[in-house]
Formats: sequence, C-alpha cells, structure tokens
Amino acid sequence: MEYVILDLEWDSVYFTPEKRFINQILQIGAVRLDSDFNTKSVFSATVCSAISKKVTSRFAKLTGITSEIMREGIPFEEAVDAYNRFAEGAQITMTWSNSDLYTILENEELLLKDKVKFIFNKYLDLQKLVQSDLALKGYESKNQISLEAAAELSGIDTEGFELHTALDDCRVCAELLRKSYNEQRFNSLIKDTSSPDFYARLKFKPYSISDINDKQIDRAQLDFLCPECGGVTKRISRWKYRNRWFVSDFQCKKCRFKFNGRVAFKKTYDDLQVRRKVCEFRTKKRKTKDDMQPLSETVQS
Ligand SMILES: [Zn+2]
Repeated sequence: MEYVILDLEWDSVYFTPEKRFINQILQIGAVRLDSDFNTKSVFSATVCSAISKKVTSRFAKLTGITSEIMREGIPFEEAVDAYNRFAEGAQITMTWSNSDLYTILENEELLLKDKVKFIFNKYLDLQKLVQSDLALKGYESKNQISLEAAAELSGIDTEGFELHTALDDCRVCAELLRKSYNEQRFNSLIKDTSSPDFYARLKFKPYSISDINDKQIDRAQLDFLCPECGGVTKRISRWKYRNRWFVSDFQCKKCRFKFNGRVAFKKTYDDLQVRRKVCEFRTKKRKTKDDMQPLSETVQS
C-alpha cells in the first residue's frame, strides 16, 4: 500500500469567460509514502498561468511565488500530467481539508481539456484525521484547524519548513499523519472517489428552504405543542420568513397561552435538517437580544 499527500497553492484570478473570479492552481506539491508512511519521493511543479501574467501581491507574499517565478512555470495540463505519473499506483490520496478538491474540480472544469484530470483512487481528508486525534488529546475545536496550528498543537517544529509552499505543506502533513495515525479512525475516513456519490456530494451546496409550501417540508413540523401545558395549539398569525426561519405566533387551545414558534429547514446532501424554537410571545415586535433567547430549542435530521 502506498500513499500520496497532495497540496495545492492557488491564486484568485478574474476569468473572463465566466465573468467571475476563480481560484487558479499555480503550484502542485506532493509526497509519496510507503506503507509505513516513510517518504519515498517528492513532487513539485509551478504552473504558468494561461489567464494572467501576474499573481496577486497577497499570493506572492504567502507562497513566495512571484509573477516572474509563475511565468517560468509549466502549463497546467503538463503539471497535472506530471503529477499523475508521480501518483500512479498509489492507493490513497490525502489532502489537508477538502478545499483542495473544490479547487481541483473548478480548475478541471474550466481550464483542462477532457482527458487530463487529477487521478484519485481512494481519498482521505487528513484534517479530519488530525483534528479527531487532537480532540482526543483535549484540543476540541468546532472550526477547521489550520495546518500551522495543528502542527504546533502536535509538537511539530515547523522552523525548517516553508509553510504555504505546496511541497513543504505536504511534508508537514506527512509528519502529522505519522503522529495522528490510528488504524481504525484512518480506515473509517477513507472515501471511494469512484462512487458517483463522491463528487455529487462535493458539488452539492446546502441551502435553506424559504418557501413554506415546499414539498420537502413535513407539515407536522409546522405544528407546535403548548410549552406550558402540552396541549394542542393553533396558529394565530401568518408565517413570515425571516433570516432563514419561518416565524409565527401560536395559542394553546386549552390554557390560552400564547407563544412564538420558529422553524428552519436546511437541505443537505443527505437529509433535511429541522430546527425548531419556541420563543416568548410579544405584542410589540421589539428587536432586542432577549427576543432571540428561545424558551426551548430542538435540532433534528
Ligand atoms: Zn397550554
């Protein structure tokens, strides 16, 4: 079993045919590891942009790739071909967070002819593995952690690395992999890129449902029981859609208690997430912080 860790550096560039900015890949770095995660060989290619003669100053500062260095690079197709030859036969490709995959998809779609594509077999998001390891060690974080921060928390000295150059980021990733590896957690994170689900899931953009008559909504989710006595209630105002929430007032048929019921629907690739809140009834709609403080809240998928 052999592995590849892949890292990309990209710059934001205006792409005229699409009339929007895209993230253009300008550097590809990779390390190839044997079954014990020893580094076997390394890969690095700088890409000469076909779209722009310059890089942004932010990109140059971060990566050390100036416009001159970029212009001495090779065409994107050639770089991807060379990378594929380097990665050929490796069973699992890893990147630090799946943001590289979004960029790859965008670049393949807009900048590559049909035949050249990054070759992936199985895929693993290394950030997930490292973050779950750090959580076990007590470094719990809700947000995605940066490579730099993960290295620091894991006690990896990054002095000798040029962070934000593709190859050195891969080297730091390899160090992190060696430190965080656990067979069971590693295996549970492997994704099969040949399954049609893989890219469909990646391309899917979660969205909030804004039409109360949307067929995906289970009408039962629009009913609320009385928070005081548990009795059946009726809706006493129209549904309003505010900031991703459907909001309406309710009154208990039994004890006459009035309250404000709120429900939000978020469509993800796998399911429809429903959040419900019961808030205080207010005759005057004052916008205070209190107003957002729910009496009760539930989340379900
Ligand atoms: Zn009641």
